[in-house]
Amino acid sequence: MSATVILSPRMSGIKPSPASVLRRRARELRAAGRDIIELSSGNLDFPTPEHVIAAAHQAALRGETRYTDVDGTPELKQAVQAALRRDHRLDYRLDEIVVTSGSTQALFNALLATLAPGDEVIIPAPYWAPYLDQVRLAGGTPVVVPCAQNNGFKLRAEDLQATISPRTRWVVVNNPVNPSGALYSREDLSEIAAVLLRHPDIWVLADGLYEHIAFSGAPAPTLAAVEPRLKPRTLTVSGPAKSYAMMGWRIGYAAGPSALIREMITIQSQTTSGASSISQAAAVAALDGAQDVLAERAVILRARRDRFAELVNGCAGLSCTPPEGTFYLLVGCAGVIGRRAPDGKVIETDRDFSAYLLEEADVVVFPGEDLGLSPYIRVSFANPPAAIEEAGRRLKRACEALQ
Ligand code: PMP
Repeated sequence: MSATVILSPRMSGIKPSPASVLRRRARELRAAGRDIIELSSGNLDFPTPEHVIAAAHQAALRGETRYTDVDGTPELKQAVQAALRRDHRLDYRLDEIVVTSGSTQALFNALLATLAPGDEVIIPAPYWAPYLDQVRLAGGTPVVVPCAQNNGFKLRAEDLQATISPRTRWVVVNNPVNPSGALYSREDLSEIAAVLLRHPDIWVLADGLYEHIAFSGAPAPTLAAVEPRLKPRTLTVSGPAKSYAMMGWRIGYAAGPSALIREMITIQSQTTSGASSISQAAAVAALDGAQDVLAERAVILRARRDRFAELVNGCAGLSCTPPEGTFYLLVGCAGVIGRRAPDGKVIETDRDFSAYLLEEADVVVFPGEDLGLSPYIRVSFANPPAAIEEAGRRLKRACEALQ
């Protein structure tokens, strides 16, 4: 006998995404023996560096297996403080820093602590979809502002200005951007800052999770460093997940005004009690240890980016521009819309195209519908070269089979 789950009104409008539906289907196909290539995930194929794993092991053997301070271990908070200074020349006191279970939680705690019903959060599109549902769960209203391809998918100052309302509480500035790979320069950020300086009540969520996966050779700039006058109302968010291939360790952090950080810590103390002790020890080793791995991996990713972009651009109906950061290609697929698959079905949307690629070509891609930009798909090049080559062949065959 099953009982009906009565949902909170908070869940209205929160649904499993098309991408999660595709991934579930991919799991079924894999269980049935199909060789599926995963291009939709946010995982890197690189291992976590060995010295980081060793630090976790040592911490566990030393007995660091208890609850830590809710806001993070002093060692990790100091490592975060030093990393922000090293990478951005940003100075934060320890009471201005909180360690969280992934940067996802830092973002959510900030929104939960600050939003009232009707409050708006400006989210440039294409976007990382969880921003929208986090805002909704926190009781606010996401306001999406499209960023044109002919501006490199970057937010224009005038579009930001036109989207601001008396209810705007936050603006999300993700650099580099998942999913477009767009990289805001200091000048780009200064233009956005100039708008925000005219609106003293608006705060900034500066999400730098991919800051070290920037092909310019330097960490992606962040708003509080570019415009110090915005620092008192900016939350600088990042984490080791992408930089050091530590997705599964679930560590993130945020730095900002202590009055906000304090509230985020209160939420954390009543919900998760803080991040994993072992993962925190690992993150200290990642942030404090040798940083060579960042440049080495960026070189590898850059070569994969160029090769995968070449393969994708060789597919009938697809096109992409190699991005300046992240490990995603945002692929325009207008050229396949309206065409017919061998089974007679017409591809009407990027979601249809993604489903077709999974069923007929054994590749999982991320539909643009989920990223606020259609008709596009997002594919990851954080995959071994052999997988990229094979994915390229499969995409080409699948596109050629369309009529
Ligand atoms: N921000 C962006 C832009 C992301 O793409 C992701 C994850 N892919 C996150 C935040 C959250 O990452 P995590 O919780 O693993 O730190």
